[in-house]
Amino acid sequence: MFKKYVFDSGRPGCRCLILGAVHGNETAGTLAQHEIINRIKSGSLKLKSGKITFIPVVNEAARRQNRRFVDVNLNRVICFHPTPQNNEEKIANELIKEIADCDVMLDLHSTHCPKDKAFAFIDYPTADNLRLLSVIPVNEALAGWPAIYEKNKSIDNFCTEKYARTCGKTGLTVECGYHKSPQAVAVAKNSIINVLAYFDNLDLPKPATTAPRITTLDSFAVKHGTGHFCRNYKHLDPVAKGEVIAVDGNGKPLTAPADGRIIMPNPDAADGSEWFYLGH
Ligand SMILES: [Zn+2]
Repeated sequence: MFKKYVFDSGRPGCRCLILGAVHGNETAGTLAQHEIINRIKSGSLKLKSGKITFIPVVNEAARRQNRRFVDVNLNRVICFHPTPQNNEEKIANELIKEIADCDVMLDLHSTHCPKDKAFAFIDYPTADNLRLLSVIPVNEALAGWPAIYEKNKSIDNFCTEKYARTCGKTGLTVECGYHKSPQAVAVAKNSIINVLAYFDNLDLPKPATTAPRITTLDSFAVKHGTGHFCRNYKHLDPVAKGEVIAVDGNGKPLTAPADGRIIMPNPDAADGSEWFYLGH
């Protein structure tokens, strides 16, 4: 099971939970957390109030294999499993206890294509979550994730943000940029530092606030067989109504139903999993 690093100031305050490698091949949040853990241990970052729990590698088996997951996508099964059937359901049963025991959750991920821009998910735009978003160093945010999974029930959406929301917690997911880019580690690090400064966990000046552009998700496409994209799409590229975005494994063209943006195109998506999203 995952290893956690807990720093308790001994004073009342916010309990922050920082997650990395919920997907085993996404290491930006892991590297950033280890750097900050070392700075706290060495005394170059000082605790001020509350408690910080770091889990740099949530899915250790997937991390060892440098894969997104071992059996099933962990970020679709974050709920209680009375009889856990696989690696990820066992992890979910432990992770939900950590989420239930925090006040603020920051879940750090990364994306599939070089030059991907960093962004945040704000699945539940409550006042608390919007305040949290305002200290995340990104220019873009995505809303509407729960609604598109409600519309397309082929894949469940039990993600960390949903579980945090169910427990009444503040929580966001940050996609820090391309998996292998050093900038993604910097985004992860600045996100963590800003959040811990904002909630007075660390003795630092309050961070600057931003107002990212919010794109609302409209739909997602599931990959079937060996489909391909019609061009080398980048995350947040514009798409025009009628544009053929991809051709499915059975030869069916997938077209944009309206002007908008393509979100997280994943050329390496597995058969039966999310391939790309559309939003506006
Ligand atoms: Zn991820």
